[in-house]
Amino acid sequence: MVPGIRLIVLGKQGAGKGTQCSRLSHHYVVPHISTGDIFRAATRSGSELGRKAKEYLEAGELVPDDIVLGVVAERLAQDDTRVRGFVLDGFPRTAAQAQGLQEILAPETLDLAVELAVPTEVVLHRLASRRTCSACGANYSTERPPSVNWTCDICGGEVVQRADDTVAAIRRRLALYEEETAPLIDWYMERDKLLSVNGTGHPDEVMERLVRAIDHRRQLQLAAR
Ligand code: ADP
Ligand code: ZN
Repeated sequence: MVPGIRLIVLGKQGAGKGTQCSRLSHHYVVPHISTGDIFRAATRSGSELGRKAKEYLEAGELVPDDIVLGVVAERLAQDDTRVRGFVLDGFPRTAAQAQGLQEILAPETLDLAVELAVPTEVVLHRLASRRTCSACGANYSTERPPSVNWTCDICGGEVVQRADDTVAAIRRRLALYEEETAPLIDWYMERDKLLSVNGTGHPDEVMERLVRAIDHRRQLQLAAR
């Protein structure tokens, strides 16, 4: 059986984190934990968490760190992640979240922080054409629609444009990425955890690149122990 892994994936909105994290989670047989998906599901269900998160989501603002950290701490306390690890998608996004994650994991540590690198022009185009299943979160685009009439190929849910994929909300999320999240790349580099991978090209090609780079780096880490 493949060994588990503790991974976070950093990248701009539209870099392909959701797609690649889902594939990585199957490959390494670990849970895929997307804070964005957790907040969207909570908003749909109208739970307490959903009511707190809704206004931030719709404006493209970050949900406050204490709320996000509470959600992640709860998820990472479950047995599946303790035993095999995880792929974290969309978290951490701020220095306080990165610090908080370190405390949640202690005495364990992350294996790697993977940066999925894609130029801004490319992500702007991808986001404007992105369409998402309102039930399961699967991603499509105006260029690659589901096979039947905007119903999800996977679950039959309705495929729509996300409420925060408007031009204004996209601009705000990209600005926040530069301000709050991009500095984490240096933070992980200083801690010798950063792996930067080119996220352009076909999703299959990107996935191959990711697995090759991750496995290579893990071998080096093991050898250094
Ligand atoms: P995107 O990466 O396209 O912004 P996500 O699905 O990752 O999409 O996140 C959607 C929204 O959920 C964010 O705009 C933000 O409001 C909220 N969110 C998700 N993860 C976090 C986080 N780690 N910290 C704060 N807010 C978050
Ligand atoms: Zn679906």
